[in-house]
Amino acid sequence: MPHSSTKHSRGPDLRNPLVFDTRDLAPGAARALTRTAPAPEHMGVELARVPAGADLGLEVQLEGVAEGVLVTATVTAPLECECARCLEAFSSEIKVRFQELFVLAADAGRAEDAEADDSYLLDDIGLLDLEPAVRDAIVLELPLSPLCEEGCQGLCVECGVRLADAEPGHGHEQRGTPWAALRDFRADEPDGGEPASGPAGQGIPDGNAGPETTRHRTDAVPDQLKEQ
Ligand SMILES: [Zn+2]
Ligand SMILES: [Zn+2]
Repeated sequence: MPHSSTKHSRGPDLRNPLVFDTRDLAPGAARALTRTAPAPEHMGVELARVPAGADLGLEVQLEGVAEGVLVTATVTAPLECECARCLEAFSSEIKVRFQELFVLAADAGRAEDAEADDSYLLDDIGLLDLEPAVRDAIVLELPLSPLCEEGCQGLCVECGVRLADAEPGHGHEQRGTPWAALRDFRADEPDGGEPASGPAGQGIPDGNAGPETTRHRTDAVPDQLKEQ
């Protein structure tokens, strides 16, 4: 285990509110603390993040156990999100609860076990840096597809307007859409509408497709049909 002085000097700093002094916490003893701490940087996923420096609300219980300190914590943090459907920015909040064992780094054998177990370490003298555990717990719970509101309608597929901002019943003239063109096209079929996607695929029967404009729009239809 590297116990160099360099590492020690970069170790937990009690001025950081995410660091807790557990030196006087005997096995069997417990202590509950409530604190506010600034959020560390880089706590986010693609569409949701905790702004660096924002207030993290911490409710922490520390219990001395034989191996080190058992931490039970509830962390509340503000979130900045982008809606996965309509891309609107919005604010939210996340609350996570976790329990983690911090083992004494001074005990080399236990420290190696801890690394093998992915446990967290107390530093040599019993200072507990909660930041990695807070980060892991929050990042794990961040929403991968946040929604600005339940049932967000997203964007209009035709014009891209955010449907929540559009007038009620926002829509577009049915004429002019590929589906309208398809209906026109089928109505024009002499035998009442043979599917346009035979083995030959994209072919449009000559002569029966109506006016030039309609035939042009119909070109877009077979690909869409294949996706359905
Ligand atoms: Zn939305
Ligand atoms: Zn639209």
